[in-house]
Amino acid sequence: MSLFVRNVFLFVVVLFILFSLFLFYKTEQRATLPSQCYTDFLKDIDQENVKEVEMKGHMLQVETPDGRRYETVAPDTAAVLPKIEENGIRLTVKRDYSIFVWITLLFVVSMILGFIAWSAFLKRGEPQVEEREEFGSKKIITFSKDSRVTFDDVAGIAEAKTELEEVISFLKDPSPYHKIGANIPKGVLLQGPPGTGKTLLAKAIAGESGVPFFSISGSDFVETFVGVGASRVRDLFEEAGKNAPCIVFIDEIDAVGASRAGSMSIGGQDERGQTLNALLVEMDGFDSDNTILVLAATNRPDILDPALLRSGRFDRQITILAPDIKGREKIIQVHTKKISLAEGVSLHEVARATPGFTGADIANLVNEAALLAVRDHRQQVVLKDFESARDRIMLGIENKGMVLSDDDRRSLAYHETGHAILAHTLPGADPLQKVTIIPRGRALGQTQQLPLADQHAYSREKLLTRITILMGGRAAEEIIYKTRSTGAQEDLLQATELAIAMVCKWGMAESLPPRAYLRDSGGFLGGPTDKLFSSEDAEKDINREVNQMIEKCYAEALSILQEQKDFMDNMAEILIKNETLDREELDIIFDCTVSKRGKDSGQADSCMV
Ligand code: ADP
Ligand code: MG
Ligand code: ZN
Repeated sequence: MSLFVRNVFLFVVVLFILFSLFLFYKTEQRATLPSQCYTDFLKDIDQENVKEVEMKGHMLQVETPDGRRYETVAPDTAAVLPKIEENGIRLTVKRDYSIFVWITLLFVVSMILGFIAWSAFLKRGEPQVEEREEFGSKKIITFSKDSRVTFDDVAGIAEAKTELEEVISFLKDPSPYHKIGANIPKGVLLQGPPGTGKTLLAKAIAGESGVPFFSISGSDFVETFVGVGASRVRDLFEEAGKNAPCIVFIDEIDAVGASRAGSMSIGGQDERGQTLNALLVEMDGFDSDNTILVLAATNRPDILDPALLRSGRFDRQITILAPDIKGREKIIQVHTKKISLAEGVSLHEVARATPGFTGADIANLVNEAALLAVRDHRQQVVLKDFESARDRIMLGIENKGMVLSDDDRRSLAYHETGHAILAHTLPGADPLQKVTIIPRGRALGQTQQLPLADQHAYSREKLLTRITILMGGRAAEEIIYKTRSTGAQEDLLQATELAIAMVCKWGMAESLPPRAYLRDSGGFLGGPTDKLFSSEDAEKDINREVNQMIEKCYAEALSILQEQKDFMDNMAEILIKNETLDREELDIIFDCTVSKRGKDSGQADSCMV
C-alpha cells in the first residue's frame, strides 16, 4: 500500500507546484500594467484625466480618456471613492481574492485530484504482489497471485517437481482423490543443501498453482518478545483459512522449527518453543477438507524438531540434492537463455566441468562467464569464459599481486608436477584437466582432474589412488629437495580426512572388520560426527589403519616419481616457463614420454615445447 500513498503524494506535490506557478504567473501578468504613484493619480482626477477605474482591494487600475492604462495603490479606498463619484468616473469594483483564498482553493483542488488518482490506481485491479503489514506492523507475508517464476525456470530436479505437481493438482481439484478416499498431505518439506533451488521451486509453485500463496520466512517468526512469534503463526493460519484452498510457504523453517531439546539459549528457547508449539497446533488444527498445504524448506533437516516431521504434519519430505551432470546441463540451458552464447559452445562440456555445482553455483557461473566476455570486449560468451569463470569460483581470483621467488616457483612446479604425473600414471585416476603454478585464492598451485561422469559410489582402489595423487606433491619435493615444505598442508589434510573416512565410515581398512566407527550427524552441511565406539583399543586400531594407509600411498607415490625423475625435471621446466598447462598441452607432453620410452631420448626433446 505504501507505494500508492507515495505515488499519490507525489502527484499532489506536482499539482501544488503547477498551481503555484500558475498563481505566480497571474500576479506577474497583473503587474504588467505600468504603475503610477498615488499623488499623480489624484492629480489626474482633479484634471479630469480619468475615464474609468477598476478597483480590486487597494489596487486601482486606471484608464485615461486617451486610452492610457496604469495601476496604482490607494492607501485608503474610502477617501478615493467620494472623489471618483464627484467626477462621474465609471467605477467597477472587483472582488479581491487574497493569497489565502488561492492557497485554500489550491489545496482543495489538489486533494480532489489526488483522491481521483488514488481510486484510479486502486481500480486498476488487485496488485500482483501485496505486502501485508497487518502483523505487528512488520512486512511479513507476501501474498502473490502472480509470481513471475514458472516451472520452466526450475530445471534438473524433475522428481521434486512431479511430487509437487501431484499435490497441487489435488489442491485445485480434490474430488478424484476424495472419491478414492485419499487425503492431501498436510505438509511438504523441501530439504537439501543451500542453493539447490528450494526457494525457487516454491516461487514457481506460487506462479503455477493458481491458488493463493502465502510466503513467510522462518526468521520472521523469531522475535525477542515472548508470544509475538506464536501470535504471528496464528494470524498467518487464520488468514490462510479464509483463503483456502491455498498454500502456506515457510522458508528456512529451521529458524523456528529447531529442536527444542537442543536449543542453546534459555531466553530464546521459551519464545522459540511457543512459536513452534503454535505451528504444530495450527497444522493439526485444520482438517483435511480445509485444503491448506503447508510447504516448508530447510537445509538443516537434521536439527528440526522431530514433532514437526511426524506423520500428519510434514509427512511428505522431498530431498533436493545438487544436480547430476544431466541436471546441470539443463540448468545451464535455463540460465544461458538470458546471455548471448557463441555458436557451438558445448553446454555438455560446461556441465562436465562443474561436478558438485548447485543451481545457485551455476547461475553464478553463467553470470561470471558473461562478465568475463564483457571484460574482453566480446559480444558473445565462449567456452573459455566458462572455464575461467569456473576457476574463479572454485579457486578464487588469480592472485596477480603475489610474486613468488624463482626458488619458490621451482619447488611449486615440482610439487604440481608430482601430482600431475601420478594422476596420469595411476590406473583409474580421473583425467587431468589443468596444471598451474599461478597462485589463486589461498592455493599457490593447482592440479585439476575432472571426472568423466559424476560418481556417487567410490571403490577402495579409486580412493587409494586419490590419496596417492594427493601425496604426489610432497613426494616430489622430497625426491628433488630432500626436505619437507609447508606447501603440502592442504594435500595432507585432504588425504588424512579421506583415510579416516575410509577406515571409520566405509569399512575399508584391511585388518578391521567391515564396520562403522563414525556416523555423520550434520545433515547436508557436513559438520559433527558421532563416535560409534567407546574402547581405547578401537581408537588405536583406527589410528594404525589410517597411518598404514597413508604410508602405503606415500611410498607408492615416491616410487613412481623416483622412476620418472627425468620426466619430472622436464615437465617442471615446461611448467615454470608456461605457468599453466591445459589438457591439450598435457596430452602432448605425456604422449612424448610414451614415445620417449620407445625411442632414444634425443628425439623426445623436440617434443618439449
Ligand atoms: P535454496 O535451495 O537455497 O533455497 P534458491 O532456490 O534460493 O536455493 O536458489 C538460488 C538461485 O539458484 C535461484 O534463484 C536460481 O537462479 C538458481 N537455481 C537453483 N536451483 C536451480 C534449478 N534447479 N534450476 C534453475 N536455477 C536454479
Ligand atoms: Mg532458500
Ligand atoms: Zn599439492
